[in-house]
Amino acid sequence: VSPESLAEPVHYFDAAHSDAFSEILKIESCLKRALARDEFYLLYQPILSLTTGQMTGVEALLRWRCSELGQVSPDRFIPLAEQSGLILPIGRWVREEVCRQLQAWCSEQPEWDIPVAVNVSPAELVQPTFSEELLNRLALAQVPEKLLRIEITEHSLVRDNEAVEQNLVRLKARSIDINIDDFGTGYSSLSYLRRVPVSSLKIDRSFIDGLPTSEDGATITRTIIEMAKALGMEQVAEGIEKKEQLTFLHGHHCTYGQGYLFSRPLPPDQIPALRSHPMVLQESQNG
Ligand code: C2E
Ligand code: MG
Ligand code: MG
Ligand code: MG
Repeated sequence: VSPESLAEPVHYFDAAHSDAFSEILKIESCLKRALARDEFYLLYQPILSLTTGQMTGVEALLRWRCSELGQVSPDRFIPLAEQSGLILPIGRWVREEVCRQLQAWCSEQPEWDIPVAVNVSPAELVQPTFSEELLNRLALAQVPEKLLRIEITEHSLVRDNEAVEQNLVRLKARSIDINIDDFGTGYSSLSYLRRVPVSSLKIDRSFIDGLPTSEDGATITRTIIEMAKALGMEQVAEGIEKKEQLTFLHGHHCTYGQGYLFSRPLPPDQIPALRSHPMVLQESQNG
């Protein structure tokens, strides 16, 4: 497409838009080469029990260090990967890498019991072969199935897609837990939540952000915790940065938490040491 044909009518193509547009094209063309150039790596962010302070799992978070653009945040490149279909090979790389890492941790420590949660995009979950590929990969790496979890967003569920439902049922039947990520920001219906085998709801960071002062944040957080408990699901609060947020969550018996207050996403070699050191969550309370 020539720039001339895009420039009509003229006011759609001002300098600001043209910059943003060419930047997107640039990122996309780099993204195509990122796998071959081995530019991806994973960080792992601890998830803690809010009752014991123990790390009970980690979330694998994708990082891209582009040789041309430098470090690019997932919030920028994941949407582009989803639109272009590149998320399919990238997602496969993520799961292969996680299996390799789990295999390494398990062989270093045979009693390894820290599961890894991987983020899965809607475009991946609609692939009818998704669950089979994942189970095969785990088997090949000889990693126990319960050590892998998946995080999906409500966007995967609203599609009401047969393949999505079959993938989820199949994974759950093989003890792979399913977490709903960023819960509260999408439109999944309560009846659909009952139909799919969901183990936990991750409360979106935007609600945790304003705790405890934001009335909306507090109401929504409380409601999600209660709803999850009523449905027999665990609750994971995302993005805990401050002690006051933790105190609020504690007071409402939220079961798990994740956030910079406990730990940033870490390189894999820093994870094993955290296994044996529970965080002190509260100063001892009177009464
Ligand atoms: P997410 O799955 O909701 O992951 C949580 C995000 O919150 C991560 O951002 C994490 O670094 C950030 N975070 C954790 N604790 C805190 C906190 O206390 N404060 C703040 N401000 N942020 C916190 P990140 O790593 O930039 O990832 C952004 C999103 O990109 C993820 O959101 C997920 O939707 C997507 N993503 C990351 N890795 C993958 C992947 O391997 N596959 C797919 N499909 N998506 C991925
Ligand atoms: Mg996630
Ligand atoms: Mg999230
Ligand atoms: Mg998110």
